[in-house]
Amino acid sequence: MTGQPPAGIDTSRPHPARMYDWYLGGKDNYPVDEAMGRQMLTLDPRVPVMARVNRAFMHRATRWLAHQGVRQFLDVGTGIPTAPNLHQVAQEIAPDARVVYCDNDPIVLAHAAALLRGTDEGVTEYLQADARDPDAVLEGARKVLDLGRPVALSLIALLHFVPDDEGAHELVRRLVAALPSGSYLVVSHATADFTPRESAEAIGRLKAAGVTLALRSRAEFTRFFDGLELVGPGVEVPHHWHPELGDPVPGQDDGVIPGYGAVARKP
Ligand code: SAH
Repeated sequence: MTGQPPAGIDTSRPHPARMYDWYLGGKDNYPVDEAMGRQMLTLDPRVPVMARVNRAFMHRATRWLAHQGVRQFLDVGTGIPTAPNLHQVAQEIAPDARVVYCDNDPIVLAHAAALLRGTDEGVTEYLQADARDPDAVLEGARKVLDLGRPVALSLIALLHFVPDDEGAHELVRRLVAALPSGSYLVVSHATADFTPRESAEAIGRLKAAGVTLALRSRAEFTRFFDGLELVGPGVEVPHHWHPELGDPVPGQDDGVIPGYGAVARKP
């Protein structure tokens, strides 16, 4: 990105939202993000494919939920807008879908306008809040969503930035507790299960630059769904979750995608 960064943007160290934007070929990142992104590529050249596969999982999960009749979405850890965004996917199937986005990075706020252009029948709103403060997230969400009716809570590639000692499982528990029966939890998450050596190296390099990466095993990932009913096919690598719902990513089957995705229903 050229010119002066918007107020509050720290360009002295990499930020996950901006690195992810760089992997996706976006323009809302800074030299420090690209430099760290390139380091990640030397460890695993498939990182950009992983980012696209993760995005495609979000699309398919959102389609699946809209087909189930879900009309309210709460997406925490939204990231810099990348079309199609969640509301565009949901409103293509259900124009009246109501979507609340939430992120804690000021770069996302700076670009939030693109998240607010939805259908006339639906609603989209952006909330600047930290997932580690679930009460603040819920307070903002309540202004747009009826928490008496089912909500799909999506935490897409968010929780691996929240270590256990910062309350990752607790925040999920508290957000889900505020939603009624018939709501859904959607999570995607990076793991070291398939590439332990590269993952350890990535964790170290990111840590040195001030970014915490909390990779989780399949069992730790699955624990986020305690008390919920996983829907078929259960916990999967993201591109194997309902592939019939579209958006295959070129190269997704050429090597391992070190992540998990799943959707579960609150009974
Ligand atoms: N969900 C998007 C973006 C993933 S990148 C997608 O999958 O395409 C992870 C996002 O989570 C970034 O935008 C980052 O700013 C955000 N994030 C990280 N920690 C957060 C926290 N504690 N609260 C809210 N957002 C957070």
